[in-house]
Amino acid sequence: MLFDTEAQKLLSTPRIIFSMHIATVHGGEKKAHKLIQDKFANIRRYLVQEHIKLCERCAEKRARRETASGVVIRPLTVKDLNELGQVDPVNMQTFQDGNYRFLLHYMEYLTKFHVIRPLQRKPATEVANQLLSIS
Ligand SMILES: [Zn+2]
Repeated sequence: MLFDTEAQKLLSTPRIIFSMHIATVHGGEKKAHKLIQDKFANIRRYLVQEHIKLCERCAEKRARRETASGVVIRPLTVKDLNELGQVDPVNMQTFQDGNYRFLLHYMEYLTKFHVIRPLQRKPATEVANQLLSIS
C-alpha cells in the first residue's frame, strides 16, 4: 500500500510507470509491470519496457554490465543536429551510372536521417565537399 496515496496524484502513464520502476528499485520490466498490474489497469508491458529503456540509471547499469571484458562502452549522447554523423562511401563500380561509381552515405545520429549522394570518385576532397553541402 506504499503507493495508494501517491497513485491518486499520478495522472499520466509515464509517471505511473516510472514511479513503479523506482519502487522496484530499478527492477526489470517484468517486476515493474507486475507491480503496476496490482494497482492500475490497461498499462501494457511493452510500454513499461520502452520507459525502462529511457531510465538513465538503468542505461548506466546496462553499460557497466556490457563492459565485463574491460572495454569501456559509453552510450553516444548527441544534443545538436549534425553534431555527430556517420559517413560511408559505398562502392558501386559494378552498377555504375555514367561516371558515377560511388555513393556517399551519410547518417545523422540525432535524427537518424540518411543522405545519399552520387560520387564519381572518392577522394577526401570530393567527400568533404559533399559533406559541406549536406550540413
Ligand atoms: Zn531504472
